[in-house]
Amino acid sequence: MEKPGDSPQGLNAVTSARRSASSLPRTLLFVDRILRTLYAFEMEYRNLGKSGLKVSALSFGAWVTFGDQIKDDTAEELMTTAYDAGVNFFDNAEAYSNGEAERMMGRILKKMGWRRNSYCVSSKVFFGIDERKPTQRGLSRKHVMEACEDALGRLQVDYLDLYFCHRSDPETPIEEVVRTMNTLIAQGKIFYWGTSEWSAPEIQEARKVAREHGLIGPTMEQPQYNLLHREKVEREFADLYEGEGLGTTVWSPLGSGLLTGKYNDGVPEDSRMALKGYEWLRERVEDKGAREKIEKVKKLAEVAKDLGISLPRFSLAWCLKNPNVSTVILGASRKEQIEENLLAIDDVDLLSSEVMKRIEGIVS
Ligand code: NDP
Repeated sequence: MEKPGDSPQGLNAVTSARRSASSLPRTLLFVDRILRTLYAFEMEYRNLGKSGLKVSALSFGAWVTFGDQIKDDTAEELMTTAYDAGVNFFDNAEAYSNGEAERMMGRILKKMGWRRNSYCVSSKVFFGIDERKPTQRGLSRKHVMEACEDALGRLQVDYLDLYFCHRSDPETPIEEVVRTMNTLIAQGKIFYWGTSEWSAPEIQEARKVAREHGLIGPTMEQPQYNLLHREKVEREFADLYEGEGLGTTVWSPLGSGLLTGKYNDGVPEDSRMALKGYEWLRERVEDKGAREKIEKVKKLAEVAKDLGISLPRFSLAWCLKNPNVSTVILGASRKEQIEENLLAIDDVDLLSSEVMKRIEGIVS
């Protein structure tokens, strides 16, 4: 049966229903929230920049959790919850847990047997794994071609839908990178390639080289984006959306958990920042600048409370509100977290211009 979101007209109907909900009186708004939570969840799909690829506005990634924090059974529960809610993009990288995150995701994808054309999976190349010898990292043709082959093996898939250069590599000519990605596309091993944490001039240069040589340039960039980290997405890349049609798959939308409020009074034992090997991340909530961030988080929690939603949902909805974001990559170590976070899709319309002004007053 056709659902309201299946056609462009249907999408408009859904959007206008959401808009009208935001103009309801406050008490009715709370009832509306509860009803939506129970019955109205529907995933939204956005084009990946100017490409034709439709990615779910909320996607799911493997960093920290897969391999280092959770086992196959939990990972399977999380991926299944996401997939059943309409998530169609699973994000990964060669470096996550030294390849184990991809192996874990590969085992689950194989076990679940979802139709390969119903989801997208990514990998990223740059940091390398294992010994990280000079030929085993960076963006040389040798490493990119070999890393792609290895990722396909670990993920047990024939192709990657999205393939990212995990960082830029000043020691490899940009033309070599663009040509290699183009070769992988021509070989059918990847469908779209992109960058992660590249600067705007680096992305523009890659696009220019691609245009000059009739090659396929980067479709998307994967930057960090959340209420406490906005510069790249909102200012540095501002000229790359309209003209260049850049798509974005944004990471750490909850600032590794900071924007859930769980670090307001220290580091809980069972949290990411208490994990062995992630002391560098823990320092970020314990250093001098952290107090200021936590004060902002506390004020944001008051806004979320006034809207009748949790702080994680509120923080994710704020990321989704930005039309230049193609997909917000969720992270979760427990089923309750992913279930809660997926509900953010229905919270975007709560962020009226007055609410956005209030948020600006806190974070800018
Ligand atoms: P978030 O900032 O959303 O952090 C996720 C973590 O926050 C969870 O693992 C969990 O940690 C905690 N959390 C999530 N939801 C809740 C909730 N409702 N209540 C309480 N705590 C919650 O995202 P990630 O940092 O995980 O990034 C998402 C994805 O982005 C990654 O998996 C990866 O695919 C990608 N990424 C890409 C990078 C790049 O350089 N390209 C870099 C980093 C990430 P806890 O276990 O403490 O509860």
